[in-house]
Amino acid sequence: MARRAPGADGPLMVAMLQTSPPRYPAGLLGLACAVGLLLGHSGQSQAAAFGDLLIVHVSVVSPERSAVLRNVDVTVHDGRIAAVAAGLQSGAAPASSGIRTLDGSGLYLIPGLIDSHVHLGWIPGMTEEQEHAHPDIAQAARAQIPRSYLYFGFTTLIDLISTPTAMARWQAHDPVPDTYFCGAAALMDGYPSNYLAKPERYAQFPYMIVEPDSAAALPPGIEAAAHSPQAVVARMKADGAICVKTFFERGFGAVHDLPVPQASTVRALVQAAHAAGLPVLMHANSDEAQRFALDTGVDIIAHGLWNTTERSATPGELTPATKAILDRVIAGKVGWQPTMQVLYGLQNLFNAGFLSDPMLARVLPQSLMDWYAAPEGQWFHDEILADLAKDAPGTPRADLRVDLSGPIGTVKAATEYLAGHGARLLFGTDTPSAPTYANPPGLNQWLEMHNLLDAGMTPTQIFEAATLANARALKLDAEVGTVQVGKRANLLLVRADPRRTIDAYTSIVEVILGGRVLDPRQLAAAGAGAGAGAGAAARAAP
Ligand SMILES: [Zn+2]
Repeated sequence: MARRAPGADGPLMVAMLQTSPPRYPAGLLGLACAVGLLLGHSGQSQAAAFGDLLIVHVSVVSPERSAVLRNVDVTVHDGRIAAVAAGLQSGAAPASSGIRTLDGSGLYLIPGLIDSHVHLGWIPGMTEEQEHAHPDIAQAARAQIPRSYLYFGFTTLIDLISTPTAMARWQAHDPVPDTYFCGAAALMDGYPSNYLAKPERYAQFPYMIVEPDSAAALPPGIEAAAHSPQAVVARMKADGAICVKTFFERGFGAVHDLPVPQASTVRALVQAAHAAGLPVLMHANSDEAQRFALDTGVDIIAHGLWNTTERSATPGELTPATKAILDRVIAGKVGWQPTMQVLYGLQNLFNAGFLSDPMLARVLPQSLMDWYAAPEGQWFHDEILADLAKDAPGTPRADLRVDLSGPIGTVKAATEYLAGHGARLLFGTDTPSAPTYANPPGLNQWLEMHNLLDAGMTPTQIFEAATLANARALKLDAEVGTVQVGKRANLLLVRADPRRTIDAYTSIVEVILGGRVLDPRQLAAAGAGAGAGAGAAARAAP
């Protein structure tokens, strides 16, 4: 089922993932991920030159160290961590030196957080047509979104379906998290390109894969040789992508017979990607898809498991077949992103209280919140409601709502099982996974942390998943993920130890991005008010 609005400079393309079990409304459960606003040109973020920094008397919590490093000083030079040691402050940083000193007494210095699954091309809940109709609301939203990620401590993001043009538009913001992208190696006419009309889809998926069998049906202007796994990987690598995203999705709702790649195609893609040093992520959220991902050797499964062929008699209990999949994830050290907010982001469209959550004001401009609450902003809710009504004729509309408790129970049990068996869990939210306003940037990451805690992950596991585990999985660990000399100074100064409590991430005193010190109160949306910032009190001296 497509939710899209064609526009002048690129489609807002929303795909819905996976096959829905019959007891869910048509198309609904598929709604997740694979949303891409493909716009056009880019590169990676570069550290701007900021003054040097000295953080004194701070406790360092970094994932490669098992213990807190107490009362040390940390220096930052040219955007990178230059030293982590005791006693550095003596003789350093006279006021005239231009070195800014932060007093870290009573505070913790931790790595900036990484979300390895986001989509940055569009405004949650808004189609491209609506964006054109409300340029002021859209402009305020686009200006705020990068700041909202930073506000909640996310200094590194990976957009899993992008292009250099789309990246350039995003990188033009200031400040903006360090952002990297994957190219989307989608099968020609398969998910998620099927949601775009032909031939537009071919232009919007420059890294699509053409299998030899389909070469006879190629549209004019498309050369099969340019869309082999090897050619596609070479092109995305040259364009600056750091990873390859591929898909196994037969569809859902009215769409259920989409072509899926052959195992040999994905194995060739993985081989080419690995030769180029790029990890491969696969959209896979059913048991069939996750088995396929394991069979073909992809590095990261970009969703939790929520659709299974067999269901356990006891809700939330894993079947032997599901456990067998998860055991392979563990043994193969395959990265696994639970992405539980995908499901809550749909359910919460039917939660009347969601839009009055005071936390929203920290990450969204007032004008956008007002628009969400207005009839026009309810368009996606209304589309889903219409589907629900079709599936349940005679039910009063007020009683219709999305209930994903089944898939939530499955993904929760699966996450708990993986967390208990040392799996390589990665923090990825798929923000926004559908055109839902219930995936607000920054806040969505905070909500996902609660989901993970609820699914049995410890604060330490969440901390590692959002820092070093993500950095390693995306081959960014030479740059970010720990508080170590030589790494980019993407750091958070917080009031609590993140190994003890996730409240560390709502007690941020300073966000440090490539050595640049950002005040959370300045990152919050304007409507949040001075007292609402993460670091409202106990700020370090400038
Ligand atoms: Zn996604």
